[in-house]
Amino acid sequence: MVALPEFEWGGMENWGLITFKESTILYSPEVSPLTANEDVAQTVCHEISHMWFGNIVTMDWWNDLWLNEGFASYIEYVGVALKEPDWEILTKFLDKYYFLAMKIDSKVGTHPIVMDVQTTTDFTQSFDEIMYYKGSSIIRMLKSMMGDDLFYSGVANYLKKFQWGNAKTDDLWNSLSDVDHRHDVKHIMDTWILQDGFPFINVTFTRDNSGKTLVTASQSRFLGNPTAVVEASSSPLGYKWFVELTYKTSAGLSGTQSMDMNDTTFTLDLDIENDMTWVKFNTDQMGYYIVLYPPEMWRKLLNYLLTTPVDDWTLSASDRAGLLNDAFSLANAGKLSYELPLELMAYLDREGDYVVWSTAIKSGINPISQMLYTPQWKNFVKNISQSVIEKLGFEDVGTNTERLLRNMLWNLAVSSNYTPVIENLSSKFRGWLDNGTSVTPNQKHTVYTVGMMFAGTAQDWDVIWQKYLVEPSPHEKDLLMYALATTRQTSRVDKLLGYLKDEVGIKRQDFATVTQILGMNSVANPMLWDWIRKNYQFFIDRFTIDDLRFGEVVYDTVKLYSTREKLQEVKDFFAQYPDAGASEGHRMLAIDSIEKNIYWAEHFKPVIVDWLERRHL
Ligand SMILES: [Zn+2]
Repeated sequence: MVALPEFEWGGMENWGLITFKESTILYSPEVSPLTANEDVAQTVCHEISHMWFGNIVTMDWWNDLWLNEGFASYIEYVGVALKEPDWEILTKFLDKYYFLAMKIDSKVGTHPIVMDVQTTTDFTQSFDEIMYYKGSSIIRMLKSMMGDDLFYSGVANYLKKFQWGNAKTDDLWNSLSDVDHRHDVKHIMDTWILQDGFPFINVTFTRDNSGKTLVTASQSRFLGNPTAVVEASSSPLGYKWFVELTYKTSAGLSGTQSMDMNDTTFTLDLDIENDMTWVKFNTDQMGYYIVLYPPEMWRKLLNYLLTTPVDDWTLSASDRAGLLNDAFSLANAGKLSYELPLELMAYLDREGDYVVWSTAIKSGINPISQMLYTPQWKNFVKNISQSVIEKLGFEDVGTNTERLLRNMLWNLAVSSNYTPVIENLSSKFRGWLDNGTSVTPNQKHTVYTVGMMFAGTAQDWDVIWQKYLVEPSPHEKDLLMYALATTRQTSRVDKLLGYLKDEVGIKRQDFATVTQILGMNSVANPMLWDWIRKNYQFFIDRFTIDDLRFGEVVYDTVKLYSTREKLQEVKDFFAQYPDAGASEGHRMLAIDSIEKNIYWAEHFKPVIVDWLERRHL
């Protein structure tokens, strides 16, 4: 395993010589944060699992690339979980890959896992979130349907049968079906790999004559954009999936109902009219689908989390994260009133799990904060998070996930103007820069960025830039770059853009990372957008039209725009350079994202403002 000084990707699984970007293999507990420790562990496990999935057995052609990348992206979690059981990495899978896969896969511009690959552009484009994140999510789902023993024995048979040769996706399905007589694996999995997107399951409940509950569940493709329309004929399977609808209930019942590309009704031995009765579908969020409940069921699930002692909760962290993600996804898609996810967040001051909080922040709080800056919204965020932040304190102590949670909630505190946290972090920043007071590796990211934002001057920027140039550790270097790109000093944003263009001090491999951070910086973003448009041809000449990472740069810059003027600017820019090359997919995603934001500002923002008003926040 070798670190290379200029390497765009995380790692490359050459047989006998795995090559890495420096920051995905070089790790030092003295300088590297916990997140870097996780990244290194995951990348190493990913590349090693390619020794089987990719090297010992190689896919027959690039259309089955997911046999490499989907598997390696799932097995990396299995590897890390075995080595570091305290990291709760299997739950973090939801936060890192699964919800992200769904976000991309709910857009019209997504594609099936198995895709036609004819050209180099097809090839480059196929190394995307669908291949890695959706690929691993559906492997995780299949493993949970079959059970670990059958799944691993089928996979082992497949590896032995095709070792030192090539295999197709159907070869894997055959090996798995040979050991599992309850599932027709090819029939089930074709619905997940041959068509794009995934379903949302609409469940309704009625009480039958005997007092039991009749559940009706129907499936349709989930589209994140409320105005998007896709014809069923666009999919070879008509956008119907084989869903194993799992559930658990307040009475301790659990079970599975199959939906074989159709809708279903079944009976549960429950009194649904009872205020305390709830049913949660998609147990532990193992299935790759979203569930829409009637409003009263969301409220009963919330009531359970508000009133039951935390230690007695039978909804796992994955279940809770799933409820939040599903509620926000459905609200953004116009399928559920925005009031329900907002209400659901009321229980968060009892929530201590890192993944659940991360889901609430990424699916709900951050996207709203990017569009709504009112004091009422900031107060709401402060109210639900303050007691958890206070309980965690300012010392970098506790378990892996407690330490990660503390850092994450600090960022939330900063965005909601919670002054004790801003003051503490700013004074740590000044102490570090002025007196060399050390900051723990895990807290550096937050201290550097928040300090730069609230206490950093142009002169501080120059000092940090000098540190950046001579810093040998790739992780410390990344952290310093975060601080540099978070500056609110326009003169220094200008300088940084100049250094990027002239390749002064910044490696080519880091170009897309730096522009991504600048894209999220509200002061830098308009400057970045002008700069990209002005220098686009120059960068195409440098990176080529088939460079996927460069192809993502424009998307990362414009994805948060929410006005018709900006939409037109982006469309004009694409029209000016019609040859999209490897960025074709990301151009579609960019337009989709802006259209969705415009819709959001017009339709959902007023609902949230009104809801906050009524709560007198
Ligand atoms: Zn890989």
